[in-house]
Amino acid sequence: MTQVAEPGASAPATPVTGRVTHWIDGHLVEGTSGREGPIYDPATGRLARHVDFASVEEVDAAVAAAKAAFPAWRATSLSKRTDIMFRIRNLVEANRTELASLLTAEHGKVPSDALGEIARGLENLEFACGIPSLLKGGYSEQVSSGVDVYQIRQPLGVVAGITPFNFPAMVPMWMFATAIAAGNTFILKPSEKDPSASIFMAELLAEAGVPAGVFNVVQGDKVAVDAILQHPAIEAVSFVGSTPIARYIYETGTKAGKRVQALGGAKNHMIVLPDADIDMAADAAVSAGFGSAGERCMAIATVVAVGDVGDPLVDAIKARLPKIRIGPGTDPNAEMGPLVTGQHRDKVASYLDSGVAQGATVVADGREHPLFKESDGFFLGVSLIDKVTPSMDCYRDEIFGPVLTVMRVKTYDEAVSLVNDNPYGNGTAIFTRDGGAARQFQFEVNAGMVGVNVPIPVPVAYYSFGGWKNSLFGDLHMYGPEGVQFYTRAKIVTSRWPDPGTSKIDLGFPRTR
Ligand code: NAD
Repeated sequence: MTQVAEPGASAPATPVTGRVTHWIDGHLVEGTSGREGPIYDPATGRLARHVDFASVEEVDAAVAAAKAAFPAWRATSLSKRTDIMFRIRNLVEANRTELASLLTAEHGKVPSDALGEIARGLENLEFACGIPSLLKGGYSEQVSSGVDVYQIRQPLGVVAGITPFNFPAMVPMWMFATAIAAGNTFILKPSEKDPSASIFMAELLAEAGVPAGVFNVVQGDKVAVDAILQHPAIEAVSFVGSTPIARYIYETGTKAGKRVQALGGAKNHMIVLPDADIDMAADAAVSAGFGSAGERCMAIATVVAVGDVGDPLVDAIKARLPKIRIGPGTDPNAEMGPLVTGQHRDKVASYLDSGVAQGATVVADGREHPLFKESDGFFLGVSLIDKVTPSMDCYRDEIFGPVLTVMRVKTYDEAVSLVNDNPYGNGTAIFTRDGGAARQFQFEVNAGMVGVNVPIPVPVAYYSFGGWKNSLFGDLHMYGPEGVQFYTRAKIVTSRWPDPGTSKIDLGFPRTR
């Protein structure tokens, strides 16, 4: 049986101070470009360390390592690759406390949320442990006399993943778990805001037995991203981030001949019908609106109150807000941490002013929280804006912070039109006791992930994750069965083992009858 370390047994790769560097060909590689970015501790607002930004040459070095590692890795037996996937899974779980502390230090999310992120990432590693079954092809015997046809799925080669700041551990796991299990070699370009988790994971993968060059990390910004998009040896690119960049990645990557899946931003609506349980809906709205300080692509951004449910629902949400404990991840009682940067916090807060200027009602103003006023950390309290309409900036933009908006509509049809007219289509939810209404909603709503009395319907790892409209550019969703399709290509073999004595020339098109 695989021996794994106890929680916290491996020291984190990145010290609390210092630099975050690249991971190329199985070891740490210091940046040489002379370019770097700052990493802050969001809870204190202090500059914590710097991250190296890769040059084109450094991306080339990572791709060269990945390309060199590919032939041996794809030829490694399925059972050996599976064994390594199990080891990775066990090491990530054993070191989850350490990994979570890196997330808290750089992203700011509280430990319970960081551990939740890792748990959802572990699901993807567990799914990838089933790779022998997932790669099974089909076989048709005797399609013609003595002729059999079968399909195999083969890895693409070198593939890359570009990830956002809000899930520095889980989103990379969405990608690399299936990619490497399927026999590809991988280049990760994490967010420059919280890159330490990527290096810690690289160390765990190496400890698990992943050969040098199979998993590489290049830190950086647009220079590294563009080098990835243009590199002729990279076959496919997975991206998760904001919609403008997702569109850019999709257009640039596909133009360069690559397979691309690019997941973008979101504006998730939670519809509450008049028959819903108000307390349950209010609990769900608060959990899904303010969890992880609203920095989740599946966060509920707007609650759509149908008919006369608006007043009691807003009252119920408002009553819950003072109970939310906001503080740094080092406070064991904190339920919500700071935002990722001061700049982002200020942008989020600006929607309170624009909301009022455009006619909305601020029910709770997060700027009144003591930590907003007194702390140097990037804290903002929870905010609730009522009577929001579709033309307001706080509805049109993805706020990506702890600001929940409420819209009031008269009918179910109006509520569905709001969701369907919105340019995003990531997740949505309906709260009702009426099974018929829920079924109709599931039938006609234009979004990729739908919750019925479930506010954050992130699919389990054996389904695939992805939105519609401006929330996803590409044909295949991420992880799960579609992830296997994305990271492999099919090859169809038609085979005959004839008696040489029956061989003859026939210029006609091959026939089966
Ligand atoms: P972002 O788009 O700013 O950055 C994502 C990645 O792109 C980072 O690695 C970043 O370095 C890189 N990047 C940024 N600007 C670039 C540019 N001009 N050219 C090339 N590369 C560039 O996103 P973010 O702020 O890190 O993350 C938050 C966003 O991600 C939100 O919009 C959120 O909805 C979205 N998101 C979506 C999903 C999903 O599954 N649909 C999941 C998580 C986050």
